[in-house]
Amino acid sequence: MTFDLHHFIGGTAVAGTSGRFFPVFEPSTGAVRARLPLADDGEVDQAVRAAQRAFPGWAETSPLLRARILFRFKQLLEGHADELAALISVEHGKVASDARGSLQRGIEVAEFATGIPHLLKGEFSAGIGEGMDCFSLRQPVGVCVGITPFNFPAMVPMWMFPVAIACGNSFVLKPSEKVPSCSLRLAALLHEAGLPPGVFNVLGGDARTVDALLTHPLVRAVSFVGSTPVARHVYAVAAAAGKRVQALAGAKNHLVVMPDADLKLTIDALMGAAYGSAGERCMAVPVAVAVGAIADPLVSQLAERVRALKVGPSTDPAAEMGPLISAEHRARVAGYIDLGLEEGAELVVDGREISLQGWEDGFFLGGSLFDRVTPGMRIYQEEIFGPVLGVVRARDLDQALALIEANRFGNGAAIFTRSGAAARHFGQRSQAGMVGVNVAIPVPLAFHSFGGWKQSLFGDHAMHGPEGVRFYTRPKTVTARWPYTGDGEGPDGFAMPTFG
Ligand code: NAD
Repeated sequence: MTFDLHHFIGGTAVAGTSGRFFPVFEPSTGAVRARLPLADDGEVDQAVRAAQRAFPGWAETSPLLRARILFRFKQLLEGHADELAALISVEHGKVASDARGSLQRGIEVAEFATGIPHLLKGEFSAGIGEGMDCFSLRQPVGVCVGITPFNFPAMVPMWMFPVAIACGNSFVLKPSEKVPSCSLRLAALLHEAGLPPGVFNVLGGDARTVDALLTHPLVRAVSFVGSTPVARHVYAVAAAAGKRVQALAGAKNHLVVMPDADLKLTIDALMGAAYGSAGERCMAVPVAVAVGAIADPLVSQLAERVRALKVGPSTDPAAEMGPLISAEHRARVAGYIDLGLEEGAELVVDGREISLQGWEDGFFLGGSLFDRVTPGMRIYQEEIFGPVLGVVRARDLDQALALIEANRFGNGAAIFTRSGAAARHFGQRSQAGMVGVNVAIPVPLAFHSFGGWKQSLFGDHAMHGPEGVRFYTRPKTVTARWPYTGDGEGPDGFAMPTFG
């Protein structure tokens, strides 16, 4: 039984009027669960204008009061965690423990946002001239837009809007059309927490909706997370329209296994990083670089674990890996396994032939493992975004570092070793924004910032943490002169002030 979803504009649910809809699937069953209305230019304008109307009052609300609403929001998130995790699982397909973990990482950004008044304090220089002081403050930018991918229905939107709102901005979120329900529920909880109508709005939409948002004259800032071709488009179009833009993009993260690595620790970490969330994470590890003689034991022990991987629907508490997001994506990932064979890589475990009794219509794929992948292969170069791990063999650490440097992506990189010297060398030299040492998925905590290098991020700012606050605020510097002459009057002059 399907139902119609809605937009959330000006504090209320609003039915779609464009006549365009997107079918929202349940990846575990393969069934359509709901229809999402796709906003047209008029609905985009309605949402942006609601945000623009709410902005001045919200920007003038004390940072402390804004933070208190976010504190209540955080409490509501915790109180509704089971419900939100279930929404994540049903539309994305990830297993319950993973859905809960990703939600927790989002809640941590809301928690960080409750302390943002501390980061808005600014700087002060007293007595720079006679009776003169100079101070800098950070003010909100206005209407901000967030465009998010399918793979983290709660966490990625929450990388953006709690920070933007705590800084005094209003926000229009365009979540992935494949997983919209969580964002709509987050909007309702924000309003239950006391957020004034119009400060946070959600639009159902697709590429057409995004393009209308990118060029809307009242939009000041655009945050994007998604694939590299779309990130590049969003960056180019929004920047040309005069917006500030941060566009986080695709990845091909490498995990370097040094000959002295603890093999059990490494394989445990690799299993989660390569196959967790069916490999549909921007910080997933699709490439293991085996240095020297560790390659053979690494591949044989990994193969055993990949064959034993428990694949199942998101409702199965024993499942370690759920389905892929859509039938099309499943076919695309399976196509990369065909391609790897054509390119000459050695397919050690083949995940293509999997059938789960009772779940035959779900978008399932087993885990696959390739050995002897080489940098010239397309399965090495392109982002597959599925449960496929490729092992590349390298002579030494410098060759492994050269591979990472030559790769066009630079989201994350990790090293597993017992050598502090190798780890330090890797931390300094690796060309990636987030680096792990004996940590396969080095996702920073909310009070640090998240973002890659090279074609994994277009723009100047990473997300959340101090970088997020910088992105969602603009600096203002006030130079004030109040000379005290005893009678309350100060001298005036026409010369260029030198402040000496
Ligand atoms: P996607 O690029 O297809 O979609 C992302 C968003 O852009 C969605 O809201 C979608 O509606 C919109 N969109 C899609 N095509 C568009 C177009 N032509 N013009 C304008 N807007 C368009 O990404 P996805 O498949 O939803 O997500 C997976 C991708 O996201 C992967 O590449 C993954 O690496 C990346 N990702 C990156 C990070 C990071 O932090 N770097 C985090 C999560 C996901």
